[in-house]
Amino acid sequence: MTSAASVSAGRGPESGPVPVPVAAPGDLLRRLRQRHPVDPVTHVQRVPSRAGTPAPWPQWVPEELRTAYARRGVTAPWRHQAEAAELAHDRRHVVVATGTASGKSLAYQLPALATLLADPRATVLYLAPTKALAADQLRAVAGLEIESVRPACYDGDTPRAEREWIRRHSRFVLTNPDMLHHGILPGHTQWSGFLRRLRYVVIDECHVYRGVFGSHVAHVLRRLRRQCARYGNSAGPTFVLASATSGDPAATAGRLIGLPVTAVTEDASPRAGVTFALWEPPLLPAEGSAAAPAPRRAPDTPRPTDPEVLDLTQVRRSALRETADLLADGVAAGVRTLAFVRSRRGAEVVATNARRSLDEAVPGLGARVAAYRGGYLHEERRALERALLQGDLLGLASTNALELGVDLVGLDAVLICGYPGTRASLWQQAGRAGRSGQEALAVLVARDDPLDTYLVHHPEAIFGAPVEATVLDPANPYVLGPQLACAAAEAPLTVADLELFGDSTKETVEALVEAGALRQRPTGWYWRHRERPQVDLRGEGGAPVCVVEAATGRLLGTVDGGSSHFLLHPGAVYLHQGVSYVVDTLDLEDGCALVHPEEPDWSTHARDVTSLSVVSVRSYVDAGPVGLFLGEVDVTSQVVSYQRRRLSTGEVIDTRPLDLPTRELRTVAVWFTLSPESLAAAGVEPAEVPGALHAAEHAGIGLLPLLATCDRWDIGGLSTAMHPDTEAPTVFVYDGHPGGAGFAERAYGTAAAWLTATRDAINECGCETGCPSCVQSPKCGNGNNPLSKPGAVRVLDVVLNNLPR
Ligand SMILES: [Zn+2]
Ligand SMILES: [Zn+2]
Repeated sequence: MTSAASVSAGRGPESGPVPVPVAAPGDLLRRLRQRHPVDPVTHVQRVPSRAGTPAPWPQWVPEELRTAYARRGVTAPWRHQAEAAELAHDRRHVVVATGTASGKSLAYQLPALATLLADPRATVLYLAPTKALAADQLRAVAGLEIESVRPACYDGDTPRAEREWIRRHSRFVLTNPDMLHHGILPGHTQWSGFLRRLRYVVIDECHVYRGVFGSHVAHVLRRLRRQCARYGNSAGPTFVLASATSGDPAATAGRLIGLPVTAVTEDASPRAGVTFALWEPPLLPAEGSAAAPAPRRAPDTPRPTDPEVLDLTQVRRSALRETADLLADGVAAGVRTLAFVRSRRGAEVVATNARRSLDEAVPGLGARVAAYRGGYLHEERRALERALLQGDLLGLASTNALELGVDLVGLDAVLICGYPGTRASLWQQAGRAGRSGQEALAVLVARDDPLDTYLVHHPEAIFGAPVEATVLDPANPYVLGPQLACAAAEAPLTVADLELFGDSTKETVEALVEAGALRQRPTGWYWRHRERPQVDLRGEGGAPVCVVEAATGRLLGTVDGGSSHFLLHPGAVYLHQGVSYVVDTLDLEDGCALVHPEEPDWSTHARDVTSLSVVSVRSYVDAGPVGLFLGEVDVTSQVVSYQRRRLSTGEVIDTRPLDLPTRELRTVAVWFTLSPESLAAAGVEPAEVPGALHAAEHAGIGLLPLLATCDRWDIGGLSTAMHPDTEAPTVFVYDGHPGGAGFAERAYGTAAAWLTATRDAINECGCETGCPSCVQSPKCGNGNNPLSKPGAVRVLDVVLNNLPR
């Protein structure tokens, strides 16, 4: 019996919203757990409420500014805001890395606005990763009604007619890194006055600048500093950065701006208490097991090709089904519940299933549940917000679009279906729960994924000090080269500039001269061409491939060049916003795939062959029978065939050959080697070695996001029982971006922590022989074969026992 069934029945949908009993969120958790024969909750953490700690206004904050804040209801800053503001006012570069809704804006507004009031010529530049956030901040600053500031957004949407006014008169310009790169810096002569007087640069949500994108932005900021200096701003602007909580924010921020940064991390803002439960869906009964209990609810059929429902061997109840049940139970108990689901399709599956089971219990109750995905109109979002706040709607399943689109706080319970990828997002989502004075409930439901498995068994990774760091690598030559070309096109590079852009600048400049991009003269290096260099900050492994519906010419979306062979080969089933298409042709020269809508009874899985050669070793640890390395590698891969598998059963229908070119990737890798003797001594039979290494590789890739914010799709791997370059059994894990993005480097630097977590995730998974929660990978080019779960644990034990801590 479900708890939905315990709701008093008998009211039809015609009698309006069905009244439901209201349970306290804490009681809800008890109810949820009771239904399962084996308790799915692996940990409960009570995060107590916290009263805020205010601080006095810094002395330099003028009366006018205090009054302006008082009008907005702010009577004093919280301590962390005052602390960061003081540092920035002292011209120290500072990063504020505190929780969601802790008021990071005040920390930069105070020094920036106080300076604008004290010096009528000073200017401030604010950078946000999205136009929407910049617009929000514009409203906030404009709302303070301080006359002489004249804040303005300057982005791609700004009408030409307004641009000149902004350049001349605005003293608080809000923009994004792309506009700085494409518009402001190339047009620096028009901005010379603004840059000369630039006192503060605010970088909001700076944790977004990671990987290749972050490395590009790091150089855009160096170009900005260079132009400020060229126009006589000798002290240079002070940088104030706002970040989600992360591991080592000062180092990351320092790498981003290229200057030493002080971090403020102690959050002094108030927050509501929350009970946070970690939930691991139960294992499904083994096939043919006589004791198999009947499914609790009618089976639902999310399409197995859904990115959340990969057709690997399912051994656990899916997180989507589990979340749908929890959502239904929350609604039945009268608890306003929000479920975050990673994909739109997943959100719809959750809402549909919750509605169905509620209607089975009480006809009409299902109407109190809705699905929400991005792309709604403003009015629709407002209507949804109202319905939830007024209680007409009790349950909502949403993609994280809600994080950005709708202002909703104070829900009773938040369900998080699958780890959202970073701690920052996790807390942002959990932060939706909790009305003042009331304890709320947050539940993380683990997906079939090694990182999720690890987290629900290692609560310290969620509730303890953050270890996940934002990584970037400004030294990546594939980023540095194009950025130096941009800098040279803005003004010739001088010897003094070389230091600004990092240690490897000299070599890269020489390479650009060799390639004919720059010309060396006695006064410096000059850009040789008439047109400016075309550099995309968000460029990812080659030009993106457009997906076009053949019949209508409609552009459905783009796939980055690196993934296109895998996802868009002829015959591939391609999902776009939950709609299924089949690829007719892939034209790599034009960067275009033609598709038609079709829902075949199968899914497609590309297979590739990959080889890897070591180019150079940057650093290594010699640990007896074990070696750990960081270096450059060449990865050659070719998608050679694809399998068609029956949706209902996963049975392989056939394997079809493909004729696609090979691709080369020069990148950075971390790898470890083990001697065959050490493996034999640990009980790994020779026949088991390939599967053991392969399984360790998969789980290692899955766990890397624990230490470096990245997606497992940003990383590749290769394992072999004998590699010609290392002459030993080896596992390679490499950055999936040309020149590297910092992920492998982070893995090397934190190898003991990374491999310990990897080992634990495998070892603690309750499955028999390996599953998607531990060693199977949704992106395996070998069809997850061979894999040895016990062998992987032994391999990692050998590595960890030898590696110095
Ligand atoms: Zn498993
Ligand atoms: Zn694999």
